[in-house]
Amino acid sequence: MARSCAKSFNAKRRRTARSEFPVQLSKHDLLQLDADALAALSHAQLQGLSEKLLADLKLAHERLDQAPHNSSRPPSSQAPWERGRDEDHDDTDPDAPSDSSAPASSTARADEHVDPPADSAEGSQPEPATSASPSSTDADAPPPKRPGQRRGATGHGRTQRFAIIHRLEHHPTRCARCGSDLQDRAPGACYHAHHVIDLSDLGEERIGLELTDTLHAYHERTCGCGHSTRAEPGHTPGDAAWDVALSERHLVGPRLLSLICALCTRQRLSRRRIQEFLGDWLRLQLSIATINQCLHEAGRALDAVVEEQLLQQARDSGLLHADETSWLEAGKLVWLWVFTSATTTIFTIGARSKAVLMSVLGPLFNGWLMSDGYWAYRDLDNRLRCLAHVQRKARGLEESLDRQARAFGEAVNTCLQAVMDSVYAAREGPPPMDLRQQHAEQLNAFWCLCLEHIDAAHEKTRALARELLNDFDTFWVTLDHPELPLTNNEAERALRHWVIARRISQGTRTAQGSRTVAVLASVVDTCRKRGLSPWDFIAEVVAERRRGRPAPLLPVAA
Ligand SMILES: [Zn+2]
Repeated sequence: MARSCAKSFNAKRRRTARSEFPVQLSKHDLLQLDADALAALSHAQLQGLSEKLLADLKLAHERLDQAPHNSSRPPSSQAPWERGRDEDHDDTDPDAPSDSSAPASSTARADEHVDPPADSAEGSQPEPATSASPSSTDADAPPPKRPGQRRGATGHGRTQRFAIIHRLEHHPTRCARCGSDLQDRAPGACYHAHHVIDLSDLGEERIGLELTDTLHAYHERTCGCGHSTRAEPGHTPGDAAWDVALSERHLVGPRLLSLICALCTRQRLSRRRIQEFLGDWLRLQLSIATINQCLHEAGRALDAVVEEQLLQQARDSGLLHADETSWLEAGKLVWLWVFTSATTTIFTIGARSKAVLMSVLGPLFNGWLMSDGYWAYRDLDNRLRCLAHVQRKARGLEESLDRQARAFGEAVNTCLQAVMDSVYAAREGPPPMDLRQQHAEQLNAFWCLCLEHIDAAHEKTRALARELLNDFDTFWVTLDHPELPLTNNEAERALRHWVIARRISQGTRTAQGSRTVAVLASVVDTCRKRGLSPWDFIAEVVAERRRGRPAPLLPVAA
């Protein structure tokens, strides 16, 4: 299952990448457009409107093709959350919303916005929206179930009042039908408003954490041509690979969302502990579902950074360290892989398979790859093996009670130590003679010694002899390239933090949860390698992608 999830994730991402831009005409616009409205337009205005219609129509068709029952996607490629609500257990909240169509109007949750009267006074405290007022767009289809009633989400948040409240007015600037400038027209009615709670940007002088509550009010304006255009909260259209909205219509602002990511990934707090922290220290009540949604939204927003920037940068690096450790997804054993270069770290969760390896390296990778002896790595051309790893095993043999094992362990360590000493010396200055020649005889003898032990009665001796022979040449590459590393410590260090996180969290519950962990880990660790603040960057990416814009570039160095 894990493999098919990882595959379908990548396939879906590729398929949907092209449609990652918002529609240009809203439902509100389309309702006003008819034959008479078109007849009143000039040729140039018609041309402009037609281009918008054509672009939207193409987008609509592409999205139709992404339906889960479509023939291009075998049922086995479906992610668990597509197979039905029954199997949809989210990371901590089994009742998390699972709307995947994700237009802004249908994904904003009832406890995240209010629809105040058009004349709601400046700075007035809004009514808590624990009971959602039905908006005009919902009138024709009664909602089957109020989305705010999920377990764990009751009684939270919207009863809160904050002392600081800003109000931001959003007005449309251009007529959606004829393209005329609307800025001089009289402001129209406010048709929608929602709160955004975010961390203040305190600037350089002040310290602390401060929350602000901003009411965003969206207005319409009527053009001279008679068409009424609405300012809309930004959003990135639905992505079949992600069951979470990416929209400005969200209670949690980008900086607060980034803080939640920090508490989860760096402080390794569970959703419940994050809820407790926000309540205790910021007096902010958020539901577990909202916290979970924030993390998954960050995962979706940052996925583009990993796919479009980090993967290529890792592949272009001349040297990657790879390692993998076990991970639990919905109680099943999968693997957390890490690939790290001098400036980039990529994590991925999936099967321990060559397909996962190749999805990260790509078909063209020709740098050096430091890895363990796992068979999936063996077809790669420029491989390195970690000598410290073998050294640890040899030391284990040296402490064995078996006489043959002790002797073999000593021989392995002597040979490795000689090679490592030569490499260290060569890094200080040019060696007196070619290192290969210098060690040729010793390595020949060592090869024969390993051969003698491939059927040894002592199990660990046998295993080490076979491991050495399987990859024999790979162990000595540093004799030709002393500048290359002797150990895989870089990758082991990168995994360490997440091994502890795994112990605390017991893994993830869905493929989307796993992808979120991998994406967040990749971006956070890459930022740290580059001396950048991951949290500023995450806030920036989420803000941009909520506006329907592409993710900003992560600088290669600070
Ligand atoms: Zn107009």
